[in-house]
Amino acid sequence: MKWKWRQLILGLSCLLLVIACNGLSHTSTISPNSGLKALKVATDPTFVPFEMKNVNSNLEGFDIDLMNAIAKVTGLTVQWESLPFDGMISTLQAKTVDAAISGITITAERQKTISFTRPYFKAGLAIAVRESNQDIQDFNSLQGKKIGVQIGSTGADFAKTIPNAKISTYNSGPDFFQDLLNGNVDAVVSDAFATLYAIKNGNLKGIKVVANLLTEEFYGIATPQDSPYIESINKGIATLLSNGTYQQIYQKWFNTHPPALPEKF
Ligand code: GLN
Repeated sequence: MKWKWRQLILGLSCLLLVIACNGLSHTSTISPNSGLKALKVATDPTFVPFEMKNVNSNLEGFDIDLMNAIAKVTGLTVQWESLPFDGMISTLQAKTVDAAISGITITAERQKTISFTRPYFKAGLAIAVRESNQDIQDFNSLQGKKIGVQIGSTGADFAKTIPNAKISTYNSGPDFFQDLLNGNVDAVVSDAFATLYAIKNGNLKGIKVVANLLTEEFYGIATPQDSPYIESINKGIATLLSNGTYQQIYQKWFNTHPPALPEKF
């Protein structure tokens, strides 16, 4: 009788051990596939209000909120990496980051070397001049003028099309606006939303934006070509557009309703 009890206890213990081991191996095999991978995402936090560093040096802005919300609904985690805008496309090509969100305009030229998600923001270029300037009103009045642009930006590409323009290139927005105020350039061609935001929030005194947009552009999240993440990021954007989160984030930073976005570029 005693012997049987011992056998029974031994048997049950073995069974428990097998169940426990199964449980363990189960969780360890499932976690790599559960999607909780840390996605390395590059951004250049000099582009208000899309990406900037607050007083505590933490990242904040429209793009930061959007990317973090995408991560939340897709089960990804984000590991942020600050990089200069000009180096972002080559970094994506080298695949040292998984994605970049930095107010990056989707262009056919860029699509030759990197991929983009669906458009997530409707944007465009505008001309900024000193408040006292009366003669620069549109594309034609930019001819022969001194123009400041950011290296590697769509504004820089645009400026190349202006006849006889003398182009100065800068590493980031804050630098060209300083030179505009100093009188070293006559105008700046850059993303309208960023400039308007800086003017409205008092960071840019003495500068105005010429009313009409020069271009219609769409920002996309950029990834290396053949990225395994582009599909889930796209699904994440779609979820945020349909569940109201996109609208909330837009409202938080721009105080207005977002315009409709095309599904594809
Ligand atoms: N949208 C512009 C571009 O893609 C500039 C973006 C930026 O300065 N972060 O070239």
